[in-house]
Amino acid sequence: MSEFDVVIVGSGVAGLSSAWHLAPDHDVLVVDGDRIGNGTSSRASGVITTPVDYPEQPEWARHAVEFFEEMDGTGVFEYTEREFVRGVRTGEIERAETVAEREWVTLREPGEYDRWNETFDDDSPYEKVLVWDEYTGYFDIDEWLSTLQRLCVERGVEFRPDTLVESVCVENGAAVGVETEYQRVDAESVVVAAGSGTRPLLADVLPLPIRKFVWNVAYLDVELPDEYPMGGDWQEQCYWRPTRDDHLIVGIEHYYGDEALDRGPHSSTRNGAEGAQEAEPSGVRGEDHEQIGPRLERLLNEDLPELLAHVDPADDVVRWEVCPMADCTTPDARPIVDAPDEGPDGLAVAAGFHGAGVMATKSIGAAVRSFLTDEACPFPRDPHRLDRFDTRDTDFDFAPMASWQAQRS
Ligand SMILES: Cc1cc2nc3c(=O)[nH]c(=O)nc-3n(C[C@H](O)[C@H](O)[C@H](O)COP(=O)(O)OP(=O)(O)OC[C@H]3O[C@@H](n4cnc5c(N)ncnc54)[C@H](O)[C@@H]3O)c2cc1C
Repeated sequence: MSEFDVVIVGSGVAGLSSAWHLAPDHDVLVVDGDRIGNGTSSRASGVITTPVDYPEQPEWARHAVEFFEEMDGTGVFEYTEREFVRGVRTGEIERAETVAEREWVTLREPGEYDRWNETFDDDSPYEKVLVWDEYTGYFDIDEWLSTLQRLCVERGVEFRPDTLVESVCVENGAAVGVETEYQRVDAESVVVAAGSGTRPLLADVLPLPIRKFVWNVAYLDVELPDEYPMGGDWQEQCYWRPTRDDHLIVGIEHYYGDEALDRGPHSSTRNGAEGAQEAEPSGVRGEDHEQIGPRLERLLNEDLPELLAHVDPADDVVRWEVCPMADCTTPDARPIVDAPDEGPDGLAVAAGFHGAGVMATKSIGAAVRSFLTDEACPFPRDPHRLDRFDTRDTDFDFAPMASWQAQRS
């Protein structure tokens, strides 16, 4: 008889959501090589734009976001509904018209968007704006992770932090537990939700086409009007969102390649996660160019002030992060959430969220539960199954978010 019904490797949003979904009728253990929730999830900006980032999967998006709305006010968790806008340049109008055929988004003229003047710079190149004003919002990621963990504890989930999992144990074609650095843990089923650690952990059991990539993020000290929208720009491949304490978080997609990620310029934990960088504004702006990343620095100093009202090259950067533990991605920039036939029985995986894992929190766990219990899933699971890929290698081209959003439009 196994010690646990399910052992889950990884305590980011994917592992915690899976634990929460399984816990009502399973004995669940979550094991993490680091502190609980200290992986990529802890670095997220808390931008909830699920209909923007999963435009072809409205059921998945709705299922995920309604959870945040329901959980608002639970423990320390506070969810702020806020529209997301994307200024549209002349050359982007055709593409924007296609996007506007989707649910929950409209393409508007400047006169049809009452926040135009307080959002965009007078000299911005935008002709129109795409507005998502349903199922989008933001929250503080620390509040979300601690609330999720508390919800799991209330359901009886056990946690083992600081316990590296070295392998998944397979006997007679079935996953039967994990070997940790300290001991073996037997379980009826195994969920691997180990972020960028998923592929290395499963290398001998279930090779996955997953590779790492990076987001760079800066927190600007900016005076913003109330209800300032979240937004993004296709050309710059960036996003921004206001915070409750008068900062503007600006993020940019950035890919270094695996070697650079492993090296990392700063001190790191044994899993490769680095601490947030508390920066002196002057140092970040100029001398620490290499560390903040040239693209992010150019965005802050040159490009963003030309796009957004209220953002100025002189704004202080109060905090910045180059997240080398990174997120991970797949050939189509969609996650793998599956219990693949080609893997051992009783093994489910959830990884490869390409910068959009937090906003999908609830849907990830719902899908994992449906695989392990054979229950119905509240949304189609096929878009995230492994067998959609021909390759199991990692030499595929990195697909920037702007390009895959265009493909799905
Ligand atoms: C700077 C930045 C900003 C982002 N902003 C947003 C945002 O605004 N909205 C959004 O939706 N998404 C955002 N993302 C993406 C989001 O953070 C990820 O998609 C999501 O956190 C992935 O969650 P995860 O559970 O798969 O991975 P993780 O949170 O990385 O969890 C994996 C866990 O597995 C553990 N682990 C790995 N290997 C092992 C092992 N062998 N043994 C034991 N434990 C192991 C790790 O320690 C880690 O805790 C952002 C990402 C970054 C980097």
